[in-house]
Amino acid sequence: MAGYRHLFIPGPTNVPEEVRMAMNVSMQDMRAPDFPEFTKPLFEKVQRVFKNTTGRVFLYPSSGTGAWEAAIQNTLCPGDKVLMSRFGQFSHLWVDMAQRLGLDVDVIDCDWGTGVPVEQYAERLKADTCHRIKAVFATHNETATGVTSDIKGVRAALDAANHPALLMVDGVSSIGSIEFDQDAWGVDCAVSGSQKGFMLPAGLGILSVSKWALDAHKRSEYPRTFFSFEDMIANNDNGYFPYTPATQLLRGLDTACDMIHAEGIENIWARHNRLASGVRAAVDAWGLRLCATESKWHSDTVSAILVPGDVDARDVIARAYGTYNTSLGSGLSKVMGKVFRIGHLGWMNEGMVTTALSVAEMAMIDVGMKIAPGSGVGAAISHFTATKAADATQAAA
Ligand SMILES: *Cc1c(COP(=O)(O)O)cnc(C)c1O
Repeated sequence: MAGYRHLFIPGPTNVPEEVRMAMNVSMQDMRAPDFPEFTKPLFEKVQRVFKNTTGRVFLYPSSGTGAWEAAIQNTLCPGDKVLMSRFGQFSHLWVDMAQRLGLDVDVIDCDWGTGVPVEQYAERLKADTCHRIKAVFATHNETATGVTSDIKGVRAALDAANHPALLMVDGVSSIGSIEFDQDAWGVDCAVSGSQKGFMLPAGLGILSVSKWALDAHKRSEYPRTFFSFEDMIANNDNGYFPYTPATQLLRGLDTACDMIHAEGIENIWARHNRLASGVRAAVDAWGLRLCATESKWHSDTVSAILVPGDVDARDVIARAYGTYNTSLGSGLSKVMGKVFRIGHLGWMNEGMVTTALSVAEMAMIDVGMKIAPGSGVGAAISHFTATKAADATQAAA
């Protein structure tokens, strides 16, 4: 098919040309004497994306799932009691991993379309006066349902109970795109991966840990090898890795972090909010609803859009792909067939979002949905032009 194949799934996301070119380098000697001149500043640049000034970052040649595992194995002990919540496919998978790794998991099940139940966390923590709970887990952005949770609120619940449990956060589809402040929110393990907000191909598990997580590490009793903090630290401190690093991805990560810091992390959060608000305006104009049940849960990185009960969302996605050369995100597990998702994170702008919306409109009309042509796109354009005008006024003032 002629023309670009458009990618509007919530990961892997679009890779900027600069990042692709930065990875187009010949193989490098990862034990060369000048390799640390590249890696040491890279660790700092990555850490700044998390707003982590107390601890350090680990870059594993894995996907985000590996960083989930690294966080558990390096800070906890088998049999430890932990508090988790489940409201979508990704929070489900982290619970499943914690159970399989032998943690004693207290799972709070919530409706899909909602997020971390902060009040229930607060009650559980207050009641746990002998501090049996060793860690509290929270999925910051549930990518399956387009729900963002209140991590600051989870920290407040821990503090209100004066509770020492570690705070473990899955930020795979939030960090680098929407507000995240590891220091201010007291996040001990912040999990991410390369193929979402970091605008790279898959292949890096990125884990940012606080100094308290590094303390907990000393007491942790999991057997570990590949994900071992001690092996990583011993080598990273000198700018090297305990095994072959994915050097091309690290080159790309270096450029991606430079782009993030050049744009400014707060500006990136604002851009994602503006783009997501345009998508939400389109969804309203179509007369549809998001899977996220209330505006407080709305995600600025991914929108999961519910289709009417007599429509199979998989037909919309298939039409977009087969006819219009465009990937929209599918519904996972419980919401399969009920939603299609638009990923609007990473290297994304207004023109790309309106393309996603126009293809979604064509696909929905093709499968027989009553959508007025241009209705959603028009609403998004109105939003973008209005907010762009506001930006320009601000800049001029
Ligand atoms: C994508 C994603 C993951 C899994 O990451 P992989 O890189 O596929 O292992 C975990 N959590 C969330 C919230 C995600 O969006």
